[in-house]
Amino acid sequence: MKSKPKSHRAPKQRSQTHKPVSVVTGAAGFLGSHLTDLLLKHGHQVIGIDNFVTGSVDNISHLAGNPDFKFLQQDVTEFLYLPGPVDYVWHFASPASPVDYLELPIQTLKVGSLGTHKALGLAREKKARFLVASTSEIYGDPAVHPQTEEYWGNVNTIGPRGCYDEAKRFAEAMTMAYNREHGVETRIVRIFNTYGPRMRLRDGRVVPAFIGQALSNKPITVFGDGSQTRSFCFVSDLIEGIYRLMMSGYDLPVNIGNPHELTMLEFAREIIAATGSRSKVIFKPLPQDDPKQRKPDITKARKLLKWQPAVPLAKGLESTIKYFRTRV
Ligand code: UDP
Repeated sequence: MKSKPKSHRAPKQRSQTHKPVSVVTGAAGFLGSHLTDLLLKHGHQVIGIDNFVTGSVDNISHLAGNPDFKFLQQDVTEFLYLPGPVDYVWHFASPASPVDYLELPIQTLKVGSLGTHKALGLAREKKARFLVASTSEIYGDPAVHPQTEEYWGNVNTIGPRGCYDEAKRFAEAMTMAYNREHGVETRIVRIFNTYGPRMRLRDGRVVPAFIGQALSNKPITVFGDGSQTRSFCFVSDLIEGIYRLMMSGYDLPVNIGNPHELTMLEFAREIIAATGSRSKVIFKPLPQDDPKQRKPDITKARKLLKWQPAVPLAKGLESTIKYFRTRV
């Protein structure tokens, strides 16, 4: 697929003295808050938007009083009005753990569809560059392994994960439509499993679940026989890749993730060892449509963005475990 934007604007430099202005939707979430921190480090002014459905004020409380950070409590499925210039819109708002989107299927569909539409509308109005946080979930239970960006996926539209997968697939389609019809400069990142500080202990995802269980010496709940695989990327690596993508000139989807693949049983053992826990593994039923394998092909990111993950699992787990120790 080759995209043909109607117009291609060069990256804007509104004025030499002006700090770039970024809008981050989902700024109080796990990824949105880390992205906000990186943007502030790069000298951006950041307007964070969140409705706290799954985000937390704790993730942004360290930014209180920072003159470069403004926060707006709003649902991004409603019309977004912001005075003043905006250079970049980063659309990260969405429930993102299977447990969350099972509980919030309609909000998940709305933020991926209506929310993406509103965020794109804002980018168009402000002549800003737009990046959407898409996901490896658009590949569903993948028949191609590792997953390349050219693979179209294998998604059960009406299954329990369909609300997230289809919302994100719609978000990608809407993003390309704004690119082609309105000439908005757009970027699509497909995010693979990511972990790190600021994940919610009880969001149901495997990393906080296993670490929480291990730290309290409770049984580690491996779903199915634990042979399903995932590949975990540390959050600082992921955010760096996403930043580079936004600043690149490439408007088709790019996978960002860590290709180091392991089974969930191996991962459980890794967590037990890393925490020094007395926990034992127990097996629970595999949730419906749980993908059997997942590993990003990051050839594109390597070539286009000169990016690859730098934090090994052991190192990333160390800081994640340290964070969770203060929360169990
Ligand atoms: N998983 C598990 N035990 C748990 C939570 C998750 O074995 O307590 C498994 C889950 O079945 C899946 C993998 O870990 O195969 C990753 O699940 P997660 O919810 O983190 O996200 P997913 O990659 O499925 O979106």
